[in-house]
Amino acid sequence: MNIHEYQAKRLLHEYGAPIASGVAVYSAEQAEEWAARLPGPLYVVKSQIHAGGRGKGRFKELGPDAKGGVRLAHSVAEVVANVREMLGSTLVTKQTGPAGKQVNRLYIEDGADIERELYLSVLVDRTVGRVAFVVSTEGGMDIETVAEESPEKIVTLAIDPDQGVTRKDGVKLADALKLEGVAREDSLKLFPVLYKAFVEKDMSLLEINPLIVMPNGHVRVLDAKVSFDNNALFRHPDIAALRDLSEEDPKEIEASKHDLAYVALDGNIGCMVNGAGLAMATMDIIKLYGAEPANFLDVGGGASEEKVKAAFKIITADPQVKGILVNIFGGIMRCDVIAEGVVAAVKEVGLKVPLVVRLEGTNVELGKKILDNSGLNVISADDLDDAAQKIVAAVKGA
Ligand code: GDP
Ligand code: MG
Repeated sequence: MNIHEYQAKRLLHEYGAPIASGVAVYSAEQAEEWAARLPGPLYVVKSQIHAGGRGKGRFKELGPDAKGGVRLAHSVAEVVANVREMLGSTLVTKQTGPAGKQVNRLYIEDGADIERELYLSVLVDRTVGRVAFVVSTEGGMDIETVAEESPEKIVTLAIDPDQGVTRKDGVKLADALKLEGVAREDSLKLFPVLYKAFVEKDMSLLEINPLIVMPNGHVRVLDAKVSFDNNALFRHPDIAALRDLSEEDPKEIEASKHDLAYVALDGNIGCMVNGAGLAMATMDIIKLYGAEPANFLDVGGGASEEKVKAAFKIITADPQVKGILVNIFGGIMRCDVIAEGVVAAVKEVGLKVPLVVRLEGTNVELGKKILDNSGLNVISADDLDDAAQKIVAAVKGA
């Protein structure tokens, strides 16, 4: 689960990280009232969407010359004028995809003067099985370019879980960031604070880009992006309450209600598969034959007819889907249950696209019979290869 920048900053502030004062607003009236309480003379108006690259992003409705999703303002009046323009508009950034995201909340912050922009993130480094810091002196809006063109400027440091962030770790990180004086002292306090927040709140990513050094030498968290491990959310009701459903794909919200492992993707072949490994393999083979999957979906082992039906309905409701591939290897999952679920879903919502079904394993004959007797126009396939070729051909032919 992701949260907004202002929520992330509030959380980090509770742990003792230095952030600017700021207010989240939903209207120009609120902006006028609340911005007046900030010290000024510099204000920053920041779009709150679950995607990065806002500064360089562009609003769809405002034309190419309008300013981006993070704007500086020099008076409350200027703040309000920006809020009026930005609220309700659609921000397109490198991370939103071409459809962009509607901006429904803005964060107004006390502006800082910036001497240096640094990069810092904390993440789970699976190659070493530890939480690691990733830092770079080249922070700001172009970290992706740095990663591509000069990866040597990015330093990774894994943390020993028994020790936490030691003084030695802190020194290594401060050296990597070329921090001196007050900034160095600030950072040596900040690293353990970030690590503690990361571990205690079961984060999966904490990215601060940029972490800034101000002319007075102090450091400040200027941007914050935090993701949490969904599997641990049950023990953090305070975090779960920060969920903003308007930022999530409606298909994924529906899937999560039915406890389905579903991820929406950009292609046009809907997939219903059991088992995450088989689901990944199915996506790979669709790509191999020249098409793109519209989703990842693992209905799981032992799913009920109801669950299968819900899954099939989510797939068919996606207007991008031009064909559906059901690929089931019945072990714990029974092929007849899959067939019943598919037939029940089609009875309710119809079927307007080609459907290829490959069933194998437990009760396969029964499953095939149910599909045959249903009157559905099913293209049956013998194996994974055959199934992928048939659905790709059906979609391309259509
Ligand atoms: P992002 O584009 O989504 O990553 O949004 P950021 O919060 O990182 O802001 C983008 C850029 O806006 C930063 O890299 C800064 O250059 C600039 N910016 C943000 N806040 C301030 C501020 O308080 N003062 C100044 N001078 N620039 C800021
Ligand atoms: Mg940023």
